[in-house]
Amino acid sequence: MLKLILAVVPAAVFAQNASMSIEDYKPKSTLVVPQHPVTRAKYPFIDVHNHQNSTMPVAELDKLVKDMDGLNLQVMVNLSGGYGDRLEKGVANMKGHYKNRFVVFANIDFTNIDDPEYNKRAAAQLERDVHNGAQGLKIFKNFGMDLKDTKGQRIHVDDPRFDDVFETCARLKIPVLIHTAEPWSFFQPMDQYNERWLELKTHPGRARPPDKYPSWETLMGEQHNLFARHPNTVFIAAHLGWLGNNLAELGRLLDRLPNVNTEIAAVLYELGRQPRFAREWLIKYQDRVMFGKDAWNAQEYYTYFRVLETADEYFDYYRKYHAFWQMYGLDLPDEVLKKLYYKNALRIIPGIDRSAFPD
Ligand SMILES: [Zn+2]
Repeated sequence: MLKLILAVVPAAVFAQNASMSIEDYKPKSTLVVPQHPVTRAKYPFIDVHNHQNSTMPVAELDKLVKDMDGLNLQVMVNLSGGYGDRLEKGVANMKGHYKNRFVVFANIDFTNIDDPEYNKRAAAQLERDVHNGAQGLKIFKNFGMDLKDTKGQRIHVDDPRFDDVFETCARLKIPVLIHTAEPWSFFQPMDQYNERWLELKTHPGRARPPDKYPSWETLMGEQHNLFARHPNTVFIAAHLGWLGNNLAELGRLLDRLPNVNTEIAAVLYELGRQPRFAREWLIKYQDRVMFGKDAWNAQEYYTYFRVLETADEYFDYYRKYHAFWQMYGLDLPDEVLKKLYYKNALRIIPGIDRSAFPD
């Protein structure tokens, strides 16, 4: 039976909203279809892309683990481990209190990058960090975009000064999660055709204009060159390598480079707008993709679960920008879901306790 909604809308409301801007426009869907919201993942999972302050007070750590339990988040990878003392203290704090719930990745110390001994020193630092409990290396997006040497020259993503670091990762059998560049649209003119116009309007600092930055094509070309130059190093290209809007191209990259894997952090909006092709693609590349989220907000995970696990149609994304479109569920097969949620991470990241995960 239809419910009657009796409300008197003053004429002034109609009139005043005729002049509202596109940023104010937040249409509420009138579509009525079956809904299956998910607040807890079907399987225990490993989030390979998260950022936490490793030295947080234990009360905060307890709260974090409680929230993780609610989501079925079994292991969180903290990519912001730092290096040296900070890395060591962070590992002692997180893994000291919750041995099996956290993995910490190290970062690179870029000081004195022009020093002729820099490459050896950076590699030795990483080796110490791994000895002190780091289980991987994270390269942040400043690498390639903002990082400069003392002469003001941009450090390229495939700069040979870091060859020793990447070869050390191969020898120590730890993966490198690398974030290069930004969505392609951030490098394009902010005009009426730009798919991320709303985000660039609300977050102007995200634009990457050509007078200040190399092109997206240059940066991604350097990243792919880096992957090819270190075939024995296992890489995880963050954010679907910014190719979530062109999965066929991402597939060709994965076909060409067997040492490369990827993860879905903060690009769920790409999968949720192409549920049929993304499902087919994730089945094909089921051994190469991991679960990631990036910014920590427990409730935002619900949208990830719903897109991956259900066949729901036309539901809200968790932010107003990124995507102005609605999400559709992929209804992934259980075996593919298990690989995405934990099996691939267990294979790629060393030293995770397997006992909490089903076969
Ligand atoms: Zn991140």
